[in-house]
Amino acid sequence: MTPTPPSDTSVNQPPAWYQRSADEVLAQLHSRETGLTAEEAYDRLARHGRNTLPTTPRKPAWLRFLLHFNDVLIYILLAAAVVTGVMGHWVDTTVILAVAVINALIGYLQESSAERSLQGIRLMLSSRARVMREGLSQAIDADELVPGDIVQLRPGDKVPADLRLIAAHNLRIDEAILTGESVAAEKRCAPIPRETGIGDRTNMLFSGTLVSAGSATGVVVATGQATELGHISQMMGEAKARRTPLLQQMDRLGNSILGLILLMMAFLFLFAFILRDMPLGELLLALIGLAVAAVPEGLPAIISIILSLGVQAMARNHAIIRKLPTVETLGAMTVVCSDKTGTLTRNEMTVNAVILADSQWRVSGDSYAPQGEIVHEVCGRPADLQHDAVLSAFLSAVDLCNESQLALDQAGHWTITGGPTEGALKVLAAKAGVAHTTTRLVDKIPFDSAYKYMATHYQLAGEDRIFLTGAPDVLFSLCEYQLTEAGVVPFERGFWEQEMARYARQGLRMLAAASKPATPDAAPLDHAALHQGMIFLGIAGMMDPPRPEAIEAIATCRQAGIRVKMITGDHPDTAMAIGAMLGIGDGSAAITGAELEHMGDDALAGAAQQYDIFARTSPAHKLRLVRALQQCGEVVGMTGDGVNDAPALKQADVGIAMGIKGTEVTQEAADMVLTDDNFATLARAVESGRRVYDNLRKTILFILPTNLAQGLLIVIAILAGALIPLTPIQILWMNMATSVTLAFGLAFEPAERDVMQRRPRDPRRHVIDLHGIWRIGFVGALIACSAFLLEAWLQPRGYTPEFIRTVLLQMLVTAQWAYMFNCRTLQGFALNRGMFANRALWVVSGILLVLQLAILYLPFMNTLFGTVPLPLTYWGMTLLAGAGIFLVVELEKWLLERIKKPVPPAADLTSDRS
Ligand code: ATP
Repeated sequence: MTPTPPSDTSVNQPPAWYQRSADEVLAQLHSRETGLTAEEAYDRLARHGRNTLPTTPRKPAWLRFLLHFNDVLIYILLAAAVVTGVMGHWVDTTVILAVAVINALIGYLQESSAERSLQGIRLMLSSRARVMREGLSQAIDADELVPGDIVQLRPGDKVPADLRLIAAHNLRIDEAILTGESVAAEKRCAPIPRETGIGDRTNMLFSGTLVSAGSATGVVVATGQATELGHISQMMGEAKARRTPLLQQMDRLGNSILGLILLMMAFLFLFAFILRDMPLGELLLALIGLAVAAVPEGLPAIISIILSLGVQAMARNHAIIRKLPTVETLGAMTVVCSDKTGTLTRNEMTVNAVILADSQWRVSGDSYAPQGEIVHEVCGRPADLQHDAVLSAFLSAVDLCNESQLALDQAGHWTITGGPTEGALKVLAAKAGVAHTTTRLVDKIPFDSAYKYMATHYQLAGEDRIFLTGAPDVLFSLCEYQLTEAGVVPFERGFWEQEMARYARQGLRMLAAASKPATPDAAPLDHAALHQGMIFLGIAGMMDPPRPEAIEAIATCRQAGIRVKMITGDHPDTAMAIGAMLGIGDGSAAITGAELEHMGDDALAGAAQQYDIFARTSPAHKLRLVRALQQCGEVVGMTGDGVNDAPALKQADVGIAMGIKGTEVTQEAADMVLTDDNFATLARAVESGRRVYDNLRKTILFILPTNLAQGLLIVIAILAGALIPLTPIQILWMNMATSVTLAFGLAFEPAERDVMQRRPRDPRRHVIDLHGIWRIGFVGALIACSAFLLEAWLQPRGYTPEFIRTVLLQMLVTAQWAYMFNCRTLQGFALNRGMFANRALWVVSGILLVLQLAILYLPFMNTLFGTVPLPLTYWGMTLLAGAGIFLVVELEKWLLERIKKPVPPAADLTSDRS
């Protein structure tokens, strides 16, 4: 929490930072454009505290605990406690009440630990801010910002504190969170003399607002609670835990079960009371037993635990789930649209070729070290900047129209700050030894993938010039002239298009440069200024090799029935060549953003299905593509990194943001963040998602038949007028102790071998489909009938009710244990080698043994649960029954598999669709 700043600084006195000039503000904060020193920053952090907002106060622990009693299950238990209490069964009442408390306690503990782990995962995405410290630009945790820090911002950044602007270029800020205004506000540095409201303070940036476009530098004037956001204490970005579709399905199922049970209880009450003349006390206990039996008490906790284990496992594998339902949606994804640069490729660019009007040059060297030669492609002579004037002009342009910096780190490695595209151009210029004596940046238009270029206006030694770099085809339409060895001549588009295609086909990413003279007192640089008199200088071709692991991951996705589409801002030929290297498309078909733009919705849907490579696209096309694919019934994953990608990510079924390259805005819009920006991580996350869903289904199909069996057993007993086979607290024992313990064995079940060879799950299908209903009914009836037969065999032999109930309890628990092994695999024989790989199965089997030994042989447990010690022969007998049930279920699985229609393997499916 930020302590109140001392009154001797004016940092927390809002009088009008916006009314003063940037220099006055810097002076007042004892800061400067080169930033604070480390010592100053340390001192100020101690005085002002960390740049964080207090979290919303949580409900007190006791209230959160009590809230767990607000649950239908607990109502049933409390009703059961009241009825048994009234009847004077005090032991039952105590046990039932204890179970209610334990259940609430488990819920409370489980919720707290899930919250803690989600919080931990969220912290892995903590905000970073780029600041100047000790004269160097560096990234620090945003909570270390202090007043006086100089912060640099680019599109997609979240403003990390309240700032007074020092420099701004085409800056637009989305201030909706503060002002509710949806149109981005334009910002500039000039002071505003009069008093204004927040919405009109155009030279101030407020914490929590978003940079929509442009770039800026500002000085921090307030941090933490002293910010405007702190004043209105509005919390941002709280990723709320949402119920997943499967949890919602289970909620609905729970309610239906409850309704059915109430009806059944009413019917049985009338039937047994009137027709069978059953004593009221016994009947009430039986009915309570039925209610307790039919409600799967342990299931909700187990489902949340499996989901949270899944989320944690994915986080360890670099995939951070921001919205819980995504764990399930991942397994249903049918198409994934991926960015190229950085996700499918390494994002390590090196310029290989330079194409000029009269010559082409090859560049050697493949790291950021400025070592390598630039040689003439035809005659092999090294470049000489004194004589090769066009090359020299081109290299100056790419060096000055560039925001990156080349530096030698402490370990002696050359590194770059800023984007790799610009970094590669800096390295190219350094290889040639380009040097500028005096330069001053007058203005700039930062790069944006919507218009695909950047421009700068520089004051050089003797003149002013505007430099422009960007996608060649965009520059083609802006340039009127080109520079040749003979001087400036009219632009020849045909020649350049041919040259560009020739190099792009080698998979090179193309970037062109242009320049023109400017007047010193020119108006601020704007897009219109780039439309006249531009002189085209040449094109750089850079290599960004595919990631080897992405090639493998694409093949895996294909096998899993997921089509991978590449969406890139690069030239179609570059995209097709890289696509062919990666296994996306065959290198001969691509469609461009411009072509998509002219299509109606139907044609677009067709193209979205038909093509795998989308080139020269801008973020707006991504949104249309996602919609078109969704219209065709696809479940779409979409990756993105830039601020403009956020709408497409929100629209996608699985919005995937990049952790390294991605902006905060994109990450906030996303369902999932890849912390290593790597496509292979996405493929692994899909596998995890499918495994988690499988395990949830296995657990549900494991737990529900037991409840059905218990319920049926009681119903049969009431209808047949036989001894009620289990008491309510014995049923609670099974549902709360043994079922839950065994379900953990399935929670840790590794992925099935064919998990990535199956086609994606149909998201509309209920987790308990026809097959599931059949399985629950079949196994429930099988266990209930076996138990009833056992009861029918025991009853005439004169055993006490306690003994018969204990044998039945032991039999049901053994049947559960055997059925857990059936549930390990959805298809195929369950006793395979994987059984030993999942240690959890054996751990839970051991725990179950201890639990059963306790309930059968500890005298106080006997008293509590109404059990008696069993002779060893009954262990043998119940084990035999368990083995029998196991075999019958395996036989059922085998028969059903033979009857079911064969499903084509997933890989055939993707090729069918393409
Ligand atoms: P992908 O969508 O595959 O990640 P991308 O992000 O590289 O591709 P953009 O960033 O939109 O796509 O780039 C499109 C084109 O814009 C590039 O091919 C290049 O010609 C040009 N370009 C990219 N970055 C810059 C930059 N920093 N300055 C100038 N031009 C650039």
